[in-house]
Amino acid sequence: MSEKEITTRQNLHFDELWAYDPAPESPDYVKIEEKYDLFIDGRFQEPESGRYLRTVNPSNETVLAQVAEAGKKDVDKAVTAARKAYDGAWSKMAAKERGKYLFRIARLLQERAREFAIIESMDCGKPIRESRDIDIPQVIAHFFYHAGWADKLEYAFPGYRPRPLGVAGQIIPWNFPLLMAAWKIAPALAAGNTVVIKPAETTPLTALKLAELIRDAGLPPGVVNIVTGAGQTGIEIVNHPGIDKLAFTGSTEVGKLIQKAVAGTDKKYTLELGGKAANIVFDDAPVEQAVEGIVNGIFFNQGHVCCAGSRLLVQEGVADELVYKLKMRMESLIVGDPLDKNTDIGAINSKDQLDRILGFLAEGVEGDQKIYQSKCDLPEKGYWCRPTLVENVSQSHRIVQEEVFGPVLSIQTFRTPAEAVTLANNSPYGLSGGVWTDKGSKIFKIGKGIRAGVIWANTFNKFDPTSPFGGYKESGIGREGGIHGLLPYLELSQ
Ligand code: NAD
Repeated sequence: MSEKEITTRQNLHFDELWAYDPAPESPDYVKIEEKYDLFIDGRFQEPESGRYLRTVNPSNETVLAQVAEAGKKDVDKAVTAARKAYDGAWSKMAAKERGKYLFRIARLLQERAREFAIIESMDCGKPIRESRDIDIPQVIAHFFYHAGWADKLEYAFPGYRPRPLGVAGQIIPWNFPLLMAAWKIAPALAAGNTVVIKPAETTPLTALKLAELIRDAGLPPGVVNIVTGAGQTGIEIVNHPGIDKLAFTGSTEVGKLIQKAVAGTDKKYTLELGGKAANIVFDDAPVEQAVEGIVNGIFFNQGHVCCAGSRLLVQEGVADELVYKLKMRMESLIVGDPLDKNTDIGAINSKDQLDRILGFLAEGVEGDQKIYQSKCDLPEKGYWCRPTLVENVSQSHRIVQEEVFGPVLSIQTFRTPAEAVTLANNSPYGLSGGVWTDKGSKIFKIGKGIRAGVIWANTFNKFDPTSPFGGYKESGIGREGGIHGLLPYLELSQ
């Protein structure tokens, strides 16, 4: 895209911007092996497939490690190990002992939090501030929270006898690699199941580090099996007859394939899929606070969040002021080295994902959309996208309807609360949303009107393990987190 096609900050009046000296976290603090095998039955084993994939640091395109690609036989070995562990030690263990293992994993993660944060930023591209302050603390909180439930399940579902399902097959995406692993493993184990989990092909490293930690925690062999690989490995898990429950987080496209594959089987499943959240700002909202919330909702995480506030709906009376302030704020965002503690926006996770984002922007330029990007410097190597606003959009534009999964925000205006709700709901997705206003009554009215699993009020992208998360429509089926997230891993009888 040429400079001419994109409006830049030259149109804005800027005073001096803050300049920060680099403050990089050290990659020397972590040890990444050259090659990783599959974690099956409590130990690392070479893949029967004989194949390995490369995982790359998206901020500089260097290869971080070779990682095994599990084939059909490997998945079968993992499921067999998980079944043996389920029928053996794990199902016979007192629930409070099971809980102790989860507490132990949580404490070991606390001790090694820095190491996990650095590896996550190197493998995923997200800023260290995000992995250090959000991902890893949330991971730890999830293990602590679920550790507490292990011996209290009958209090969670009074009047019922909760029983585990057996072996859970779990498949996760690349945007919150370790956090998604925690969302899957912690409730499954707390409920008494064993696990075969597959991380995304571009971000396997923290899951493999977790495997080392699980081994160090002395978890009985086979309780957690970590099989790396790409889509085909996921297919082998989905189709394996020894899997009792499938938990998938990823794109709606793959979620639909999984739903078809399990139709007619007795496998239980939950699907956490895509989103296209509307972030609605009313003219009585605190504007500066809203700007910060919008930035947090779509830019701080490179837009690599299923619940990202990727559609800004702003009431006409405040639109000019808000967009102006938002553009000013965008100019102060630092895009660059994920390991630098000053960085606000890290690298896009892969070349494929970057190409997908740029495809959306190119389409916008060809049409009559107005695209604004901040004029920050980008590193020469790696995959980068400047924070981007797209104005002049209508409801039918792809950028409004489809998940971009990048730091790209579309802006539409509205006049009345009813119009805001109509626009927000005019989407195939229903995962999350945001409302900014100083009226509590408006928050409740609008919140009730939007069909989405999570609505934030005067904030955005806040998570807590006690709170259920999940969507409506094409955003998925089932909930994760809280008591609601335990239920899909249990059978209740009276
Ligand atoms: P993806 O669907 O391409 O891949 C997700 C996982 O599924 C990966 O591990 C991948 O290897 C595996 N996979 C790919 N094809 C498969 C198949 N045919 N069968 C089984 N497994 C298969 O998604 P992604 O690009 O890794 O992640 C981004 C998507 O995840 C976005 O759509 C985002 O909204 C969604 N997401 C949703 C949530 C949520 O909680 N709702 C959370 C995070 C991400």
